[in-house]
Amino acid sequence: MDVMQKFVAYEAVYLLTNETITKEMRFSEFEAVLDRYISVPEFINKVVKGIYIAADDQISPMHAVLFALPFDGKGLADARWHLNLSTMAPMLNAQLCGIPIVQREGYQGEKKDVPLLWTPKTQVLGEKALGSVLGRLKENRLGFNIVRKSATTEPVPEPIAAQPPEQWKEVELQLRQKKDELAKQIDELNQALETEQGKNLSLERHYQKFIQEKDEKLSLLNQKLKLAQQEGEAHAKLSARSQAKLIEAEEALESLTERYEAMIAAQSEKLQALEAKNDAELIHRLKQQNQRLAIDREYLDGVKQKLETQLEHTREQLQQAVDQSAEGLLKQLQGSDVEMVVYHPGSGHTAIAPKRLMEYLDDPQAWAAEHCGVSKEHYLAWLEHFDRPVCKECGKPAARVNNPIDFDRDKDVYCMLHKQAL
Ligand SMILES: [Zn+2]
Repeated sequence: MDVMQKFVAYEAVYLLTNETITKEMRFSEFEAVLDRYISVPEFINKVVKGIYIAADDQISPMHAVLFALPFDGKGLADARWHLNLSTMAPMLNAQLCGIPIVQREGYQGEKKDVPLLWTPKTQVLGEKALGSVLGRLKENRLGFNIVRKSATTEPVPEPIAAQPPEQWKEVELQLRQKKDELAKQIDELNQALETEQGKNLSLERHYQKFIQEKDEKLSLLNQKLKLAQQEGEAHAKLSARSQAKLIEAEEALESLTERYEAMIAAQSEKLQALEAKNDAELIHRLKQQNQRLAIDREYLDGVKQKLETQLEHTREQLQQAVDQSAEGLLKQLQGSDVEMVVYHPGSGHTAIAPKRLMEYLDDPQAWAAEHCGVSKEHYLAWLEHFDRPVCKECGKPAARVNNPIDFDRDKDVYCMLHKQAL
């Protein structure tokens, strides 16, 4: 058998325990073991002897490499293992079962490869191990495609099954699972990254929206309050006017009643005087007059009562108007969980309790000044400087003072040069 003229078509790897085959696989599957995609639990913390076989297209063995592969505590192949089995040339002087082999003893290649090879303890043990490997290869359990030759050549066995053997399927399954697992992990990482980026973006968006919403709410509330105030004022004015009118009417009625009473009294006096004179006809007329006056007075009493009822009603309306006015609205706000956040230079973003909102709306800058611990006058002077920090003297940039409380109205409004000249 001339090795040089043959062409390596198939490569198989057999892993042994005490010279008995425990795993057999195509070389591509063995690479997955070397790449640590697949763990082999029965090899945990063991140095496993293996036989690599190069075969031609008739699965006839061409040469073998006797290698040793350590596995770690997880059953994964040693990551430092570096033999290139496919390119290792067999030694001409070493043969086993009639084929050239690469073994540890007498190895001529690189020194660092030597510890990764093994030599059978005895010729008999070696032939037993390689013999069983060659037997398996002949059975073609790994399902290599055998190229048919002319009838004169020895008949070659068909693959035992069209399907790949169980062990190969197992390895393939493990490989696929490992790949899926890795793909899933990568997916998860990418998702986590995207989520994180998305979070930052949405947080920023959320904050901007929050500020915008607060500003909108505040301006809406401001409008509402002004409207409520105006309405309240109008109501109050109206109610005060009708109250005044009613009081006027009551007073008029009072004096009218007094006049009637005076008239009735005067008539009574006249009547008494006439009775004394015994003027029957005049007495009768006066009595009739007096009765009419009494009826009129009764009528006036009714009017007075009506007026009083109306006055009471108007007073109630006035109270309602007050309740519905700005203060009433604020009272409602205090009951809710609305919180206003306003921004002012110097004081930054600050929350305003509903009970202080009216005060804030009356004079936002005075509010900001108080919040900064300075007077409004000082705050306004600082604000002018803060918005446009330039020298009062020459117009050149002056150092900006960021905190109103640190601002010196006499010095900080000048550039370095003019500050020194002070
Ligand atoms: Zn200057």
